[in-house]
Amino acid sequence: MVNCGERMSVDYTKGLHELGDGLWAYLQPRGQWGYSNAGLIAGDADSLLVDTLFDLKLTADMLEQMRPITRTRPIGSLVNTHANGDHCYGNELVPERATIYATVAAAEEMKEAPPSRLNALKSAPDAELADFVGYAFGDFDFSPITGRDPDETFDGELTVSLGERRVIVRDLGPAHTLSDSIVLVPSARTVFTGDLTFVGGTPIAWAGPISNWTKACETIAKLDVDTIVPGHGPVTDKQGVLDVKRYLEFVFAEARQRYEAGMDALEAAFDIDLGEFSELGDSERIVVTVETAFRDLDPSRPVADRITLFRTMGAYRKRKLR
Ligand SMILES: [Zn+2]
Repeated sequence: MVNCGERMSVDYTKGLHELGDGLWAYLQPRGQWGYSNAGLIAGDADSLLVDTLFDLKLTADMLEQMRPITRTRPIGSLVNTHANGDHCYGNELVPERATIYATVAAAEEMKEAPPSRLNALKSAPDAELADFVGYAFGDFDFSPITGRDPDETFDGELTVSLGERRVIVRDLGPAHTLSDSIVLVPSARTVFTGDLTFVGGTPIAWAGPISNWTKACETIAKLDVDTIVPGHGPVTDKQGVLDVKRYLEFVFAEARQRYEAGMDALEAAFDIDLGEFSELGDSERIVVTVETAFRDLDPSRPVADRITLFRTMGAYRKRKLR
């Protein structure tokens, strides 16, 4: 498992994959709604976990697979890359002694979307909404989650030392959410990008501005790394990040044309021909990204509520994908 200046090829199968240099990626194919990736970075005496998973069962399975490593190098820190539940709802299962880190903005945003709220949506009386929530979140069990908040928050950048090894956590958001951190391991030429990178699935811009996300992609592409572990999808290299940038630029340009022509955001999302990007999974996410593009173009536009966005994505799937 030697990394000689090129990224290693890692099978896209469920479970823990060694990346070399004391790094592992935990992958959950096919990377669709809620099926996120996580990472483990081992130092001499302890380890750093990058993100937990969407529910307790998934997170417990992951921690069990990590046991051969964490038995001798226990998890001393956890970084939540951002506030989405598929990256932090399993936090309560990390050992008490571990310090959980997140940015101030991500920790704030976590409070707005507790598991109980997502759980309540599952019994929504509105059939259209329930249909989409069932598709996106039906596989996950939010009911027993009590949650655990970050212990330490930071702004901008944080360095965590694992013995000799330096791990740099850097906020490149707001983009996908209000704050999106990458976890960079310079000595292993590897970065865990959280949801700034989706591979094989459609990126979704909950927060924007979209121009800040494309800038984040450029920043990641300039890092001195070979291996990129995305938030969803197979392990990639810089091409994977540049593909995300290309998708976002495409959607923003198409949205702008329609905004200037006086179309509303919903109509615009349905009207855009995805072309080469129609291959990406969960293309209904364009509904959210176009809404965000319209807000970038008109900052006075109020933030759309998530329930409406879920319902509209359901309508998109019905109309376009079935
Ligand atoms: Zn995610």
